[in-house]
Amino acid sequence: NEIQRFYDEKCKGSKAIFEEAKEYIPGGVQHNLAFNKPFPLCFDKAEGAYLYDRDGNAYIDFLQAGGPTILGSNYGPVREAAIELLRDCGPVTGLLHEAELLIAKEIHKHMPNVEMFRMLGSGTESVMAAMRIARIASKKKHIIKIGGAYHGWSDQVVYGLKIPGSRALLESHGIPGKMFSLVDEVKPNDLTMLEDMLKKNKARGGTAGVIVEPVGPESGTRPVARDYNRGVRELCDKYGALMIFDEVVTGFRVALGGAQAYFDVAPDLTIFGKIVAGGYPAAGGVGGKRQYASIMAAGLGNAGHRAYVGGTLAANPLSALAGYTAIKEIERTNACEIAGRAGDRLADGLKMLLDKYGLPYVAYNQGSIVHLECTGAMSFDFSSFSFVKSAVGLLAHKKMMYERKDSMERMGAAYMANGIVTLAGSRLYTSLADTDEVIDEA
Ligand code: PLP
Repeated sequence: NEIQRFYDEKCKGSKAIFEEAKEYIPGGVQHNLAFNKPFPLCFDKAEGAYLYDRDGNAYIDFLQAGGPTILGSNYGPVREAAIELLRDCGPVTGLLHEAELLIAKEIHKHMPNVEMFRMLGSGTESVMAAMRIARIASKKKHIIKIGGAYHGWSDQVVYGLKIPGSRALLESHGIPGKMFSLVDEVKPNDLTMLEDMLKKNKARGGTAGVIVEPVGPESGTRPVARDYNRGVRELCDKYGALMIFDEVVTGFRVALGGAQAYFDVAPDLTIFGKIVAGGYPAAGGVGGKRQYASIMAAGLGNAGHRAYVGGTLAANPLSALAGYTAIKEIERTNACEIAGRAGDRLADGLKMLLDKYGLPYVAYNQGSIVHLECTGAMSFDFSSFSFVKSAVGLLAHKKMMYERKDSMERMGAAYMANGIVTLAGSRLYTSLADTDEVIDEA
């Protein structure tokens, strides 16, 4: 009731916008993350650790736009660099700008494995590019991904792949089974299953690449063991597959050098997104060892082995300069460590509260990526989707999934009514702006 009262009494301006938006925008919101129960709020202002809605209510921002703003919202030095660039040349010309070289060199400085970097418009399309490069480089067909991992919304890898005998559980309909016939899933943390799949694929076109979120599927919701990535690297070498790190979330967050620095593992290809454009659109890119990344070279005549990648707004000067400036600022301010410590403090605080009130949730974090998940009857292992064999098992799984979703969404609404914005109630990103005072207030 208290939550309902907040929305009814304090969010009238947001409600009016949403009511009209429902007429013109499918579902009433443009962004997946914007939909929260009981209705989405409309935000006008962002600064540092705080967001301000239409009605003037302030919120601590643990959503961080889904991850790109590790320096805090609307960070001054990146904004100033962007304004200067906009004044001089506008956001886009479709031609080369020095900022594109600056960001490629800067990434290489922190991630030596990324010898070359091509900036693209989103994480989703960067994953598509990486799979294409892996297939060209290896001359093999299959891609192996981890159950429950999110690699964007393209046809081959969207959630809930390969549900045996059923499509009902797919996150998205409209994808013929053939679209993912060359993508296999294995369980997280299970190197034996991965090796079995690599062996199986040998007889059916081979494995071009193994793609992982290095902190675990759905960026650490299901964490992986410390030596897991190294095990994947060894298996990729043994079977001649490219190792693809999806660092869309972890790049410039778990460390300036990304998860590859943190785990000290050298992937062949790295996928970027989010922070790579400094909190500005459009954020994506693929980098890697020269022999692989050069397959994306623009222009014809690349020895016949060319992955066509592109995008009208890919690598526009604005995203490139914002990303470059953000990476320099992350280095100057030590943002990964500071945000990481804020994440530890937030996770500790959440654990203390869950304990104190005996609530059926568990809080944990990988630095500035903080998770809150249901335990007990409502817990749901989203990474096991693809491995349920029976129809009864599938139904039970589906029921658990919805119960968990409902529980987390209600948690998200409760957070919001108490002045905290989260990612669907279950993910809380911390930033450089999250001082001890902010975390304690939360
Ligand atoms: N890969 C991971 C690990 C992600 O978390 C996301 C987005 O959240 C993507 C890929 C897709 O990136 P984008 O939303 O920029 O298309």
